[in-house]
Amino acid sequence: MKIGNIYIISGPSGVGKGTIIAELLRLSQDIELSVSATTRKKRNGEEDKKNYFFLSESDFSDHIEKNNFLEWCDVHQHRYGTLKNEVEKRNEAGIDVILEIDTKGAFKVKKQKPDAIMIFIMPPSLEELRKRLENRGSEKREIIEKRLNQAEIEIEDSKDYDFIIENNIISETKEALESIIKDKSQATGDNHVN
Ligand code: 5GP
Repeated sequence: MKIGNIYIISGPSGVGKGTIIAELLRLSQDIELSVSATTRKKRNGEEDKKNYFFLSESDFSDHIEKNNFLEWCDVHQHRYGTLKNEVEKRNEAGIDVILEIDTKGAFKVKKQKPDAIMIFIMPPSLEELRKRLENRGSEKREIIEKRLNQAEIEIEDSKDYDFIIENNIISETKEALESIIKDKSQATGDNHVN
């Protein structure tokens, strides 16, 4: 029986991962997004259980104690984690799963799931990333500075990824991602991306 693949997608905050992933999910019914848990506050327009499982600090700690996380990390002063249940139930049903997680979390998953494919979405430049974060308008200046510092660390980590895709023109980024997924699916005997 076929076991689903894991695609880890990382990239600095503001690089456009969300848009690209949403496009990919629309294309194929055999790929699903793992919903992470977080202790950060909901942003405008976000929904519980859809964007994240928005948890209290104590509920998050409960999940840690019960060993429910495949990985968890502190990111931007909040805790974020991938629930085993989100990934394993789908993989066992032959469904591919996308994890949109930071680089530290990605390395933790890769240790436990060596077949996971790590893909890094690279901004065209740090200046361009700053512009995108400022245009998003959802964070204060000091948070934008923190996210840019974090971006530099993540870009350094990306050298250990399987694939790096520069997100310049969104349609091209999407095509590059599709072809990675198609190649992997064909290698494992499936043809998921239409
Ligand atoms: P945001 O707060 O903007 O939604 O996400 C902030 C960062 O947390 C992003 O870099 C995102 O990839 C990362 N992140 C989201 N979910 C997880 C997770 O489950 N585990 C880890 N390690 N990082 C996550």
